[in-house]
This record gives sequence, C-alpha cells and structure tokens, in this order.
Amino acid sequence: MSDPIYAQTWYDENSIKSSKSSHFSEKLNRYDFAIIGGGLAGLVLSLKLSQGGANVAVFESKTIGSGASGRNGGFCSAGWAASPIKIRKLLGQEKAELFEDLGVLGFEWMKKQVSKPRYQKVNAKIGELNLSLAKFNNKDESSLNADNLKKYILSSRYKSGLINKNSFQFNPLSFMRILMKECLENGVHIYENCSVLKVERSQVTNSFELLTKKHQNFIAQRVIHATGGYGGLCPSKLDKVLLPIKTFIAVTDPLPGTLKDHIHTEFMISDNRRAGNYYRRLDGDRLLWGMGISAVGSKSLSTIKRDAFKDLKSHFPNLAQEMSTSGLSFEYVWSGFMGYSRNFLPYVGELSANKYALAGFGGHGMNTAPISAICLSDFLLGNKDSLDSFNGVRHLPHYGSFGKVAAEIVYKYLSLKDFISEYRPI
Ligand SMILES: Cc1cc2nc3c(=O)[nH]c(=O)nc-3n(C[C@H](O)[C@H](O)[C@H](O)COP(=O)(O)OP(=O)(O)OC[C@H]3O[C@@H](n4cnc5c(N)ncnc54)[C@H](O)[C@@H]3O)c2cc1C
Repeated sequence: MSDPIYAQTWYDENSIKSSKSSHFSEKLNRYDFAIIGGGLAGLVLSLKLSQGGANVAVFESKTIGSGASGRNGGFCSAGWAASPIKIRKLLGQEKAELFEDLGVLGFEWMKKQVSKPRYQKVNAKIGELNLSLAKFNNKDESSLNADNLKKYILSSRYKSGLINKNSFQFNPLSFMRILMKECLENGVHIYENCSVLKVERSQVTNSFELLTKKHQNFIAQRVIHATGGYGGLCPSKLDKVLLPIKTFIAVTDPLPGTLKDHIHTEFMISDNRRAGNYYRRLDGDRLLWGMGISAVGSKSLSTIKRDAFKDLKSHFPNLAQEMSTSGLSFEYVWSGFMGYSRNFLPYVGELSANKYALAGFGGHGMNTAPISAICLSDFLLGNKDSLDSFNGVRHLPHYGSFGKVAAEIVYKYLSLKDFISEYRPI
C-alpha cells in the first residue's frame, strides 16, 4: 500500500494475531450504545460500558488498531497534548489541576493494564530518557549533563537529560488486539471493515439508525463518535472542531552491533522541543524513529524515508554514516492521523441530544484516550458529575483549509523557536 496513512508498519509484522470480529446478525442489530471508531478511545469506552451492563457495538472502518492507536510510537506517559501552562491558561488553576490528575490516572490505568499477565506480549518496558538540545543550564540534581549522557547515547547534539521512570514503551498494536479480545469476551460486538456513513435520528422511536458501508443498518439509543483524526466519513459537528494532522514514523533495517554502540539504553527517548523527536530500540536491533507533523499536502513513502535519514543524521551522524557504508536504511515508513483541536484539548462530551464525542487526543493519546473514555462511560451509565473536568473546554471551529494552513505555520514557527533556543548562548 503506497499511501503512508495505511502503509504496512513494523507492528503489522511483529504483533500478536487479531481475534475474529463479530458477524452481522439480523436479530442482534439493536444496541444501547453504538461507538463509531475502533481505536483506543472507542475500545476502552466499549469495555467499560459493557462491564456496566450495557449492550454495545463498535464500528470500525478498517481493522481494530489500524488508526493511530495501533501505529503510534508506543510511548505512554502522564500529561496531555496541551502543555500544563497552556491548560492552566485555558481552564484556570483549579480545573487544570483536575485535568492534570486525569492525565496521571490515565497513565496509571494503562500501566496496570500492561502489567496483567494477558498483556505480557505488549512487551512493556519502564523508563524514558528525556533530552534537551538547548545549552546546558539545568540546576536539577537529578539531571544528566552531556558527559553523563554518554552512558546512554553517543550524540553530541544533546546537552542534558533526565530519566523519567513514570513512563513506559510498548507494542500498541498487540495492546489493541488483546484489548479487542477482552471487549469481545465482555459481550461487545465489534464490526470491522464496516464504515458508518450516516447516523439518522428517528423521532418516533427516540433512537438512531446507523447506515453502514455494508448496507446493514443498526439501531442504537445513543451514538458516540470516537473517530480520532480519521473523521469526515460520517459527518458530525466534530469535523468542524478537529483537524487531521499527520505525523511520521520510520523503522530501520536490523542494525546488529551498530545500533547499541550509539544508543546504549533500552529506555525510550524523546527530546523536549515543542516539535521534537521520539525514538526507541525495537527487538531485532532496529530503531524506531518518530518525527514531524504536517497539516497540508501529502508525503510519499520515499520522501518520508529521505526525511527520516536526514533527521537521524543530524542527531547521530556516525550511526547514519555506518548505515550508509553498509547499504542500510529504513525498512518501514508510515504515517497516521492525529485529531487536534485549536486549543489542543480533546472533545469529550455531548455533540447533540444522545450523541457524544470522544476524540481529539492529538499526539498524547495513550493515557488520555483511556481516561477520557472511562469518564464518558461513567457519565453515560448515570454519574452526571464525571465529565466535570471537560465541561470548561471550549470547542472552537478550525475553518477547514484555513485551519490547516494555520496549523502548518504554527508548526514551522515552533520549529524555528526550537532551533533558536538550541543555538542561543545562555
Ligand atoms: C504516527 C503516530 C505516532 C504517535 N505516537 C504516540 C505515542 O508514542 N504516544 C502517545 O501517547 N500518542 C501517540 N500518538 C497519538 C495517539 O496514537 C492518538 O492520540 C490515539 O491513538 C487516538 O486514539 P483514538 O481512539 O482517538 O483514534 P484512532 O486510534 O485513530 O481511532 C479512530 C478510528 O476510527 C475509525 N473511523 C473513523 N471514521 C469512521 C467511520 N465513519 N466508521 C467506522 N470507523 C471509523 C478509524 O478507522 C480509526 O481506526 C501518535 C499518533 C500517530 C499517528
């Protein structure tokens, strides 16, 4: 597949097998809840609602985890796509604290999940090395200076770092497939290759009719759009609020010997630029390299490969040189959509009567999507206070192409600021 959004990923070939999804049945097409989108948000919501006694169906255009949730960097930590400072500005101190607490709870929920024996195959590993490219000016006792960093990586570009044990890496596609099995065992019906094209409200029965691509219709009392950055197939108010933003991942050929000489640590690694890199060693002596975002246009697989090599070379010139000499490069490259709102905060709550949104987790969804799903599930099962943290979030229109161009300009501006702070004298 030459479209990077659906290109074969390293995970596709290195994850556990998927379970069989549900079959259509004339008798069973009525549900309490219909969830559109089989990403992490949609699956966690379906699991929690079914555990609460509801009759739930999930509709997924392709296969479970084929969206962002099964093709991401596999980094899980606390926090949100918006920075703590931005959240405080938008929501005020008190609400921002609640929001931050939710980010931590989401991380803890995921950590508990991956520590269960049935999730062992996601290969979770604790610890993150967070690097800074700016000139060393860190008074924090626990921070590593450029000399100490040599124990972990060989790159003169980074000036300092911190080790964060409150984060872990994992195989997100295996995670989604194990979660899918858990959902099915809890009675959730999961329909794959089943895009929802239209949701029509029936005034007579006070329910919705969902028209799917397979021409099979379903009835549901309540509908939840959990479509991430892949919205637009089934029109809703969410399309006016969330922009699909692409980001890119490349995985090298096997680099036995070489890779460990340059990246000695098994910790996942990220840098603290506003538009930075994230990378980690994978099994089989490969390097997963995450980079960049794009709101407009499209990049071919060969362009992503070239960009990744250039980016790697600017951080690890010796590693890139050794790869070139041995004729090695990136074997897998792909991209995926993230749903971003103008204020970087998600849309969790009502769209219109009995229709809800659960989307917009941007590039930080591995903890925020599940905790938001848990809050929404509590709300839908009757606890009316459980969405309080999300109530102050404003949902601003992005104005289509204008919003995409604006997002691209903001990204370029942030990259420029990152560049200046890297070379500015302290
Ligand atoms: C390349 C990449 C790297 C990332 N790295 C990280 C990371 O390391 N750590 C982190 O925390 N976050 C990361 N993110 C972000 C994270 O993956 C997302 O925030 C999270 O997965 C969003 O989950 P979701 O369920 O909202 O959306 P998705 O997982 O995208 O799921 C939405 C699903 O809805 C389906 N869908 C859409 N419309 C319809 C329809 N009409 N009918 C049926 N189905 C439909 C889509 O096919 C899709 O599968 C990354 C994202 C990308 C793209």
